[in-house]
Amino acid sequence: MTTAHNNSTAQQVLQNVFGYADFRHQQANIIDELVAGNDVFTLMPTGGGKSLCYQIPALVLDGVGIVISPLIALMQDQVDALKILGVNAEFLNSSQDYQRQQQIEQQLLNGELDLLYIAPERLLTERMQNLLLRTNIALFAIDEAHCVSQWGHDFRPEYQQLSILHNIFPNTPRIALTATADQRTRDEIVDLLALHQAKQFVHSFDRPNIQYRINDLPNAKERLWDFISSEHNDDAGIVYCLSRKMVESTAQWLSAKGRVALPYHAGLANEVKAQHQQRFLQEEQVIIVATIAFGMGIDKPDVRFVAHLNIPKSIEAYYQETGRAGRDGQPANAWLAYGMQDVIKLKQMSQNSDGNELFKQITQRKLNALLGYCEVSSCRRQALLQYFGEQLDTPCGNCDNCLTPPITWDGTLAAKKALSTVYRTKQRFGVTYQIDVLLGKTTPRIINFGHNQLSTFGIGEELSAQAWQGVFRQLISMGFLSVDMEFGALKLTEQARPVLKGEQQIQLREQSKKAKAAKQKRSPKNSQAITDLTPQDTSLFEQLRAQRTLWAKDRGVPPFVIFHDATLIAIAQAKPNTAAELLTINGIGASKNDLYGEEIIAIIAQSL
Ligand code: ADP
Ligand code: ZN
Repeated sequence: MTTAHNNSTAQQVLQNVFGYADFRHQQANIIDELVAGNDVFTLMPTGGGKSLCYQIPALVLDGVGIVISPLIALMQDQVDALKILGVNAEFLNSSQDYQRQQQIEQQLLNGELDLLYIAPERLLTERMQNLLLRTNIALFAIDEAHCVSQWGHDFRPEYQQLSILHNIFPNTPRIALTATADQRTRDEIVDLLALHQAKQFVHSFDRPNIQYRINDLPNAKERLWDFISSEHNDDAGIVYCLSRKMVESTAQWLSAKGRVALPYHAGLANEVKAQHQQRFLQEEQVIIVATIAFGMGIDKPDVRFVAHLNIPKSIEAYYQETGRAGRDGQPANAWLAYGMQDVIKLKQMSQNSDGNELFKQITQRKLNALLGYCEVSSCRRQALLQYFGEQLDTPCGNCDNCLTPPITWDGTLAAKKALSTVYRTKQRFGVTYQIDVLLGKTTPRIINFGHNQLSTFGIGEELSAQAWQGVFRQLISMGFLSVDMEFGALKLTEQARPVLKGEQQIQLREQSKKAKAAKQKRSPKNSQAITDLTPQDTSLFEQLRAQRTLWAKDRGVPPFVIFHDATLIAIAQAKPNTAAELLTINGIGASKNDLYGEEIIAIIAQSL
């Protein structure tokens, strides 16, 4: 009973099984390489379409494709999705009872499977290896291949032993896949998995559908609500916070505003976490408020926004976390609140990090890169990609700086005033105090220290307190001031000297405009959005969406496994009235047409 696709070409499988018209990026080349029997190493951003790169050759080639994945929780979803496409896929893991495992092993030996997902620790057992030696294997796919690296966050020791595949099955093609960008990890993957002969496919890290925005206005939570309520009223999203406490309070606050917002952090019981994750996947419009403990292995394609209420740890972390938005290629937002407190915290962390000098230097460099990214006045995407060693020749047109170019001003005089105030108050006070002095406030503390007698007392009245915050923040992130570990007192650095002497000019950027201004310019790029639908099409889309929920409940899978929003939008616009027409829609292959085609056509007919 195998689904023999072996006589089909890759293009036919793409169309008939997956329902897609064209390959994306380098998918076709990667697939050709594997079908020809060669090894491949590929690096593609999240949402780039990695899975097809091994799923299609597994269907085209004789034998079963063995997929090694560290994420047991994800296997079920992946296998469910493949089954709806009519593919004979299974997984083997500890969540199954012994009898079920035996059944699947038998299917494997009988050559009845197209794809089998297993965890690395199982692959390394003698029992599994003996089984595989008696099996006809099309290829090995090593997913999340960066798990070999000891330096990354996802290190799995078993991954380092996967080079045995090369020894035991020297003639079976292997493909290693990852979305992790840095060069050291790439080299390690090639070395440790013995992929020196493999053809490498490195895709751009750009995620053009994600709009990057950073907000430096005070009161981050209110700004977050402005953003969510005006742009993501019916959307699913993730809000990242640094602490558990903040996760809890933000989730409650969003719930009080009428949204379904569920907390997720390491302090919650496993059942609660699992339940919240499940609701995020199965229901629509759920917001997860999480520490960074949430996200790995969530491949929900229709996350429309990722918001950070605190600054992330590094650019790598920011890229990875924001990357969870818009895997389906539809417009999505990456929103970050960034303020003085973040800068101070980061600076203190970098000064305080223990470990050897080299480690300290690396930490410092990473933090500075992140601050640079937050403060940059030019295209964010260019800055982000440049960090990963990629060059984007023209500004992207889809980040806050491109859409509403920030106003910069000559901050030389303001900087001089700020730095001399720090100097004259003997480098013993924090930001708020310095601003009070500049604004000429006669607070008891200022009187007490006699600082109302200073020459800089009251010389900053041309700027508001908020504007001075922006000045100090930028002076700190540019390295003119450092922040004392314990008390947050500002100190001058060597770099401040030429500014004080009037030998250096300084450009500063003005604060972000209120959210409303940015919103008007929002331009969904490269893809159809629900907002583009006519009222009649919207109502058809809503009906299809409601029906999708029922189908999903029926099968016990998330709605996006049945159809992506983009597919429903395309149906609502094209209104096909025959199966042949329906099959031309992206995301509808033979199996989904068999399962749902008639009902879809009936819904369309009724709506006309
Ligand atoms: P990754 O694993 O790289 O994050 P996936 O393999 O999950 O990405 O693919 C992301 C989404 O893009 C999936 O929903 C997938 O069905 C879709 N996709 C992949 N390749 C194509 C294609 N050639 N045409 C249309 N959609 C595609
Ligand atoms: Zn840009």
